[in-house]
This record gives sequence, structure tokens and C-alpha cells, in this order.
Amino acid sequence: MKITFLGTGAGESYPGLWCNCPHCAYARLHRGRNIRANSCAVVDDTLMLDMGPMAFDAAARFGVDLTGITHLLVTHNHEDHFYPMHLHWREVNEDYVSLPYEDSLDKGGPRFTPLPELTVCGNRYVEKTVAPYIDQSPSPHAHFQLIKEGEMFMAGPYRVTPICGNHHERGFSHSYVISRDEKTLLYALDTGTYDPDMQSLLLSFRYDAIVMEGTTGLNEQYGGHMCLQNNRIYRQLLLEHHCIEEETPFVLTHMSPHWCPPHDQYVDMVAPYGLTVAYDGMTLSF
Ligand SMILES: [Zn+2]
Ligand SMILES: [Zn+2]
Repeated sequence: MKITFLGTGAGESYPGLWCNCPHCAYARLHRGRNIRANSCAVVDDTLMLDMGPMAFDAAARFGVDLTGITHLLVTHNHEDHFYPMHLHWREVNEDYVSLPYEDSLDKGGPRFTPLPELTVCGNRYVEKTVAPYIDQSPSPHAHFQLIKEGEMFMAGPYRVTPICGNHHERGFSHSYVISRDEKTLLYALDTGTYDPDMQSLLLSFRYDAIVMEGTTGLNEQYGGHMCLQNNRIYRQLLLEHHCIEEETPFVLTHMSPHWCPPHDQYVDMVAPYGLTVAYDGMTLSF
């Protein structure tokens, strides 16, 4: 399995919109891995994890082609994770799609590429948000699939089990346990800490890689998101329950500039705890 991070920032991006605090100023000056777009990732070029407003800009920047995506797993409908307007651009007059490129030039877009059917998977909040974009026309080649915590479903060749988090309110966001062949990935964004029943579910899998939100970093007071202290607690818990090994990649993403130091500094700060920090364009194969 291969995961490519298209974005690793929180809602305000990194540097933050309208912010020139020391972290944001450092990121603007040094750029590189310190710059983070809204969190989004792609697995094996067919499975997309969230689709925020910056997803396609980032994909272009890293040479990732998203036209082959067949499944989109949405963690929740906050705008930095799900920007359904992108689905609008899948619409087209199908009669023109198969024309040779030159013959299609005077027909108008917005696309010239035949697309596979896209299954958008998410909870009932996501369902509400996506409905206007896929109900009105057949040409987006997209439909919605409602998920439920603890109920495994197939997304193409992937076995996916949703786990509900406590972001905003219980059930507003879902983490995904994604397995293919013998490999299993946890993608856990905007979760807060898990309720006991969901924690038991989380601890019932064996993982080959963990991707977890590290949003509030050094701020331990903020609810609805994970801080560094909780990242360490969950890694310890996963180790104790033999869900991961010492060397299993444990990657933090969805970093807020207000509580997470710039990448250049944060990488070394979290390394002693067995944690790594994702950056935009990073690829992890396992
Ligand atoms: Zn977010
Ligand atoms: Zn959120």
C-alpha cells in the first residue's frame, strides 16, 4: 500500500490565513516542508482520503493524477476536508468526451476525459453536503454511500471500517481502518479522543501504518482535536495492545500553525516519541 500526502495542514493552512505569528512568519520565510495545504491523501492512486479546496492544486504540484480515483472516503464535512464543488467539474456532455481532442475543442468543457464511477463514502452529515452535487445530473459519475461505525464495507479492493470520533460531536467525524491484502492503514483525522466503545474497536486491529491528526500540538487544553500528548498516549496504547510495533510508521498530519512548530523544528521534537511528521508531497509505502 502506498499513501501520498497531498496536504498536511489544518483548516487555516500553514502558514495560517491572516496570521503572521512566529510560526507562520518562519514558514513564509523558509517555505519547503513548512508550507502545508489542507489535509488530503491518496492511497495507491485510486482511493482518496478527503477532498478539501486545495486538493487538486496540491495534486498538480506533486504530479498526482486524480482522474483514476474510484472511491473518496470523507472523514467529515468541515470545508477543509470536503469541498464538493470539485465534483461539479466532473460534469460534462458525455457525447463530447469520446471525441478526438481536436474535434472537442469547440464543444466546451469542463472535461475531456472519460471518468470511472466515483463512490463518495461518508456519514449522514457528508450525505447532506454532497447531495446537491450528485443528485441533479448523471454526468458526474458519482454516487454516495452511507457509512456506519463498526460496519466494514468494500471500497474497490479495500476493506474499510469506520470508527467515529469526537470532533464537534460524537459521530460528526469518522476515522477509517483501510486494509488491502495483508496491509492495514489507520487514517484518523479530526477525531478528538475516542469514546471507550470506539477505542476498543480501534484496538481490535493490527496496523502497518498510523496516520493521526496532530492538530493542537503543544496545546493540551483544546478539545475536539489531538495534541502531542494524546498522540503519545495513543501510540503507547496501540503498542500495549500489540496493534503496532515499535518501528510501525506513526505519522502526524493536519498540523495547525498556532500550536505546532514549523516542520523544520517539530520533526526533531517528536522523533524521541517514535512519531514522524508528514509533509505535503510525502509518500509512505508499506
Ligand atoms: Zn480539519
Ligand atoms: Zn474538522
